[in-house]
Amino acid sequence: MPTIWREAAVNIELRSNKFEMTAIARQNRAPIRMQMPDVGDEKGRELNEQTLSMRLERVAAHVPAGARLADIGSDHGYLPVALLRRGAIEMAVAGEVAMTPYRAAERTVSENDLQPWISVRLADGLAAIEAGDRITAISLCGMGGETIRDILKAGKARLSGEQRLVLQPNGGEQPLRLWLMSNGYRVVCEEVLRENRFDYEIIVAEFAGTVSYTPQELYFGPLLLQARNAVFLAKWQRRLGQKQRTLNSLRQASKPVPEDKVQDLAQQVRWITEMLA
Ligand code: SAM
Repeated sequence: MPTIWREAAVNIELRSNKFEMTAIARQNRAPIRMQMPDVGDEKGRELNEQTLSMRLERVAAHVPAGARLADIGSDHGYLPVALLRRGAIEMAVAGEVAMTPYRAAERTVSENDLQPWISVRLADGLAAIEAGDRITAISLCGMGGETIRDILKAGKARLSGEQRLVLQPNGGEQPLRLWLMSNGYRVVCEEVLRENRFDYEIIVAEFAGTVSYTPQELYFGPLLLQARNAVFLAKWQRRLGQKQRTLNSLRQASKPVPEDKVQDLAQQVRWITEMLA
């Protein structure tokens, strides 16, 4: 039986061109803070199920044709609705843990008369997936990498090993890749993109049995590290500057900072510097 977080409290605030959503689930969990810069795009277009953000458009490109998709954390349901409208997938489940986005997804589905093909379910993570759905692809997008990892971990029993995972973490890519590797998932495709001044990564993974990545591959992404394209290099150039500034201020802090924190950051700065050299 799916665990339903009926008590999830969601506060949505409109700040300039982006929503910041804080979902506080009253299940002993820390508040989940998510950034949603998808209200409009750089060209001022309204984003919806017909006009996806570039980020969701790139996610859509990794969903196999004819898939039976579970879009977990679907919010407004734009991704599954857009894919069905285009005839790109066979059916979808749109899973949502919070009532307001769940209702928004229901509305998008009904306004597009897609109820026979898209089931909107109020459920925590992969609990939205039922055995009879015969899901072949799972998308988890626009959440922190640790949240995506925790959802996969908690719902592992619902992962058949046959489904392609299309993941778009907002940060926390390293712990997410670590979970994928530890659970036998190979990264089969990776992308980095920049939209509305945010850097996004898309990680596509499939079950492969035994997988092994170096610490640097887990940090940068094994395929991104190999390809080193211009968007990737520009992202890490910016990150290097930010991390160097943080490291300097930690080293000059008047109050003592935990040494492991400083060492961890110093190692990241070393890795990025070496990678960009
Ligand atoms: N996936 C959409 C996208 O990428 O545009 C929406 C992203 S929105 C920032 C994240 C959504 O994930 C929120 O609507 C939130 O309620 C939902 N969410 C967070 N944790 C979840 C969980 N454990 N199960 C299902 N949905 C979850």
